[in-house]
This record gives sequence, structure tokens and C-alpha cells, in this order.
Amino acid sequence: MYNPKSTKAEEFIDNEEVLSTLEYANSNKNNLELVDKILEKAKLGKGLTHREASVLLACEDEGKNQKIFSLAKKMKLEYYGNRIVLFAPLYLSNYCINGCVYCPYHAKNKHIPRKKMTQEEIKKEVIALQDMGHKRLAIETGEDPVNNPIEYVLESLKTIYSIHHKNGAIRRANVNIAATTVENYRKLKEAGIGTYILFQETYNKKSYEELHPTGPKHNYAYHTEAMDRAMQGGIDDVGLGVLFGLESYKYEFAALLMHAEHLEAVYGVGPHTISVPRIKHADDINPEEFDNGIDDDIFTKIIACIRISVPYTGMIISTRESKECRRKALELGISQISGASRTSVGGYAQPENEEENFEDTSQFDVSDRRTLDEVINWLIELGYVPSFCTACYREGRVGDRFMAICKEQQIHKFCHPNAIMTLQEYLEDYAKEPTKIAGKKLVQQEVEKIQDGKIKQLTKEYLEKIEHGERDFRF
Ligand code: SAM
Repeated sequence: MYNPKSTKAEEFIDNEEVLSTLEYANSNKNNLELVDKILEKAKLGKGLTHREASVLLACEDEGKNQKIFSLAKKMKLEYYGNRIVLFAPLYLSNYCINGCVYCPYHAKNKHIPRKKMTQEEIKKEVIALQDMGHKRLAIETGEDPVNNPIEYVLESLKTIYSIHHKNGAIRRANVNIAATTVENYRKLKEAGIGTYILFQETYNKKSYEELHPTGPKHNYAYHTEAMDRAMQGGIDDVGLGVLFGLESYKYEFAALLMHAEHLEAVYGVGPHTISVPRIKHADDINPEEFDNGIDDDIFTKIIACIRISVPYTGMIISTRESKECRRKALELGISQISGASRTSVGGYAQPENEEENFEDTSQFDVSDRRTLDEVINWLIELGYVPSFCTACYREGRVGDRFMAICKEQQIHKFCHPNAIMTLQEYLEDYAKEPTKIAGKKLVQQEVEKIQDGKIKQLTKEYLEKIEHGERDFRF
């Protein structure tokens, strides 16, 4: 029985409710009056239910679809301004005992080189990341209680936060590791993680069990209830996502929103972020073998529909996607992107193609292979403010406190100057000359847009101090 307030996976992601939502959406996809009504509700910025959002996703009317896209663009600007937050993944270990059929780290893969970084190797990776300009990481590991126990992750977090190379620092480490216990989530919280990210892969229980035939990840309920345990363990910010291509996208979309509604209903705070990965080629994985691949048109529509359905949830897109696809996605709702990513273990200090006798430990092929400086320059050219801001989490603006500020539309007050100041740091410390010139011009323009006179004055003072070598100012 469907119950968003239940903490049982099969009740808050009730299969019957998903199927009846899809039926409702399908029978109303050309009900233009209803579509208009839903769009009117979306404009209020209070979000949509999974049923309403599914009608928009199913809608086939060209004119209405254009309205969905325009509204998504408008809401993206209203809620997130022109800021784009940057991060990089850091793969600590690819040892894994699961059997995920779409992932080359699956335990039966005997030819992929297995690697687990030592703390010394992690240090080198972090220095390489800091030297690019990164301040925010997503920590990734395979699931292996012997090789990658929680103690290893905690020790690695300590190492990561302790390194200060030149003006560099990792100020926020998000963590994407397998579902674990309340006690371990509490330890991660104490270690100072930002968001706990876990992709559901697929919400369809039957497919989930087939796609995860062996290992602890086979347990659908344990995986699906992970965010509940994370919140019970005191983690305020959780990040959801599905791996598009595994199951029907309409099923995933409805269930993803049901998951968000469940978190809101039980813990009073929805997901901090939603990621939209699509399955990619990797070692022994051929994405063509999965029947539910989605093209760029459907992909961008999903992004637009998520944007208007959960306006306060940040959206993440990785380098799995191409430059052109990322450009469209940014307009429609994405607020965070990775840059210059390596999905191999140790790939930053020793890039894959520069290593002699290179042994590929990558999790998947990336499409956008530009350097961080190229990505920053491109964002500036497109009119965005690349942001390395980590202030909310460090100022305790997390979980329901963060959402409350967002809902009062107060977040711009902090985010905009913080974004400008962290961009200024990047320009001083890491940018190539053309990026520096374009970036400085942008900083000057953006600072004038700050409405609060006192904050504007302070920001100007801080910007000058950054030029003179001081770092880490924030509101
Ligand atoms: N091992 C952890 C777990 O089980 O949740 C998470 C870390 S895993 C390194 C990060 C994510 O990469 C997975 O959750 C999956 O969605 C994604 N992934 C795995 N194989 C992929 C592929 N072939 N293409 C694209 N993404 C993939």
C-alpha cells in the first residue's frame, strides 16, 4: 500500500502507485487543459506531485512542451541565478564485491586492475586536484567491507581535509559510497562530509534485483532505505539519482519524485541534490545492451520537468555528458557540474593517457574531457558565474535550515557574493591568462548586481583582499 510516510521501501516507492501514475499520465498526456493547470501550479514555485510532474513528462504537445522548457529556464534563473557550482569526483578504490551488471567494477570482472589508494597516494591526488583549482569533491569507492571498510573512508576524509597545498584546500567532500548502517552514517557526519550521495540505479524492484544479481547491493529494501538511515544518522543533505538507461525513464522519474516526497514527508526536508547520470561505455560494459537508453531530447525534458517539480533541489550533471548536452542542461536546470574528471583510481596525479604501461581502472568513459580552465572559460563565455562556494555547509546552512532559506528566496543574498569571491580566488591562483581577463571582467559586472549595500561594500573589500593574497571569505 502506498504510503509516503512509511519508512519501508516498498510502501514509499509502491510499485502499484508508480504504475497507476504512469497510466494517469498516459491518459492525460493530451489533456491540454490539465497540462495548463499543472503549469500554473508549477509557476508558484512550490513544486509538483509525482502525478502532476508525470503528466508533464508524458505530454506530447509541442506548444505545451515549449512552455515546460521556458518555465524551467525561468525558474532556474530565479532560484539559482547564473551561478554554476563546480566539483570533481575522486575514486579511492575500485575493489567491489557486488555484481552490478552495468558497472565494470563488478566482482566477476577479473581483468580490470584493482586499485586502492594509500593515504600517500590520496595526498598526491588531492594536490593535483587543488592545483587545478578544485575545492569540492565527490568521494567514490566500490563496495568491499574488507578492502574499503568505513575506517578507510574516514581516514581518507581526514587526509583529504588536512591537505593545504599552496592556496589550495578541499572545503567540502561529498561522499558516494554504498548503502550502509545508521552508525556508519553517523561516523561520516562526524567526519564532516557534505552531501551523502547514493544513486538508486533503478526504482523498479524486479529490474533492480536482476541488475544486481549478487552482493550486498542485491537487497532492494536496504539500498532504497539508505537515505532514511543517513538522515537517522544525522546527515542533513542527501543526494538522489537514477542511472538512466536501465529501466523505463517514466517509471524512474515518477519514483524519483516519490522518493523526494517521502523524505520531505518524514524528515521535513527533501533531497539536497538530484543527479541524472546516463549509462556509458566502460571496460566490459556496452550501453547498447541495455534497452532503455534515452536520447538527448528526452534527457533534457526530464531535466526540465525535475527543475519545475522540485525547485529547491540542486541538480548535478557529470562529464558522462558532452559539452553540447551540458550546455542545454545548464539552461534547463542543472546547478552543479563536474570538470576535468577522472573516473580511474589515481587518475589525477597520473592521468590515464600519460602513464606508460597504463592499466585502466576507470569506472566509465567520460565525454567531456576538457581541462577545468577550459570549462571555466566556457562557463564565463556563456554568461555563467563559475562558483567554488562551499559556504552554506560550513556556516551550518544545511538540511531544513538550508531549505527554509531557499524557500524564503534569501539564498541569493549569500550565494551570489560567495560565488564571485570564490571565482576571484580561482582567477588569482589557477586561471590561464584569457580566463583571468574574462573572469575579472565578469566579477566587476556581477559585484554591481549585489542589491544589499552593506554586502556589496564588504564584497568589494574582500575581493581586493583576495587580490592581495588573503583567502576564504564567505557570507
Ligand atoms: N559503489 C557505490 C554504490 O554502490 O552505490 C557508488 C559509487 S559508483 C562509483 C557511482 C555510480 O556510478 C553508480 O551509482 C552508478 O550509478 C554509476 N555507474 C556505474 N557504472 C556506470 C556506467 N557504466 N556508466 C555510467 N555510470 C555508471
